[in-house]
Amino acid sequence: MSPTPTAPPPAHVRNDQVATAAGLVRTYGSGDGMVTALRGVSAAFTRGQFTAIMGPSGSGKSTLLHCLAGLDQVTSGQVLIGDVDITRLSRTRLAKLRRDRLGFVFQSFNLLPMLTAEENIRLTGRLAGRRAEREWFGTLVDALGLRDRLGHRPSELSGGQQQRVAVARAMLTRPEVLFADEPTGNLDSRSGAEVLSFLRTAVDEFRQTVIMVTHDPAAAAHADRVLFLSDGSIVDELHGPTTDGVHASMRRLEG
Ligand code: ADP
Repeated sequence: MSPTPTAPPPAHVRNDQVATAAGLVRTYGSGDGMVTALRGVSAAFTRGQFTAIMGPSGSGKSTLLHCLAGLDQVTSGQVLIGDVDITRLSRTRLAKLRRDRLGFVFQSFNLLPMLTAEENIRLTGRLAGRRAEREWFGTLVDALGLRDRLGHRPSELSGGQQQRVAVARAMLTRPEVLFADEPTGNLDSRSGAEVLSFLRTAVDEFRQTVIMVTHDPAAAAHADRVLFLSDGSIVDELHGPTTDGVHASMRRLEG
């Protein structure tokens, strides 16, 4: 019998678990050309935890992040945000859940060129109280060092500043999970470090949950834990990672 849309979530979902992958499989194509990007991945993400996802190129990192964020469809398995199985939602409900409860930061900033930094940040802002939104906007802008850049358009900002605008935009709605796909991939190491240190602050001070794909061991070392993927499966996990520890795990995987 196939499960109904109202089927309860798996019993192992705890209260502080904000995102859960259960037996995620993702294949692309069919027949001889079929590629299996995820081979039954299960993982839990708790509130206020910063998780980095690493692994060799082609190991399934982006696919996992996109499936968790409802940006890609799973072939089988479940993705829960809180206790909602997003793999069962209609397109409209999924779009609403993404807008209301999730935040995204991409490698390529994705800002609108004709809008100022402030307009870009406010684009998705839909907080209930105007005063609350103003205060939170001010907190974010100060924490990200953007106060004197708010009237600038993206072309008038450095890469690091553009990415900080994108982070502020993603966090304005106070998302339950902030997903970041190689957020420092287009930045020099100093600008990258500023973005990573803000993500760390967001976790420590605002109890933000962050899930980040990166190929950079120094970036992963900002996280609380690192999940390592190889050929579509989670094969290792580090807690309290250091750059050297992440390097060593990657060498073992690639060797
Ligand atoms: P990573 O992020 O670790 O580099 P990806 O998740 O991008 O890995 O890809 C995992 C595997 O799935 C790779 O073999 C890749 O070629 C394949 N893949 C990813 N997206 C698609 C797609 N849209 N169509 C076909 N194959 C894909």
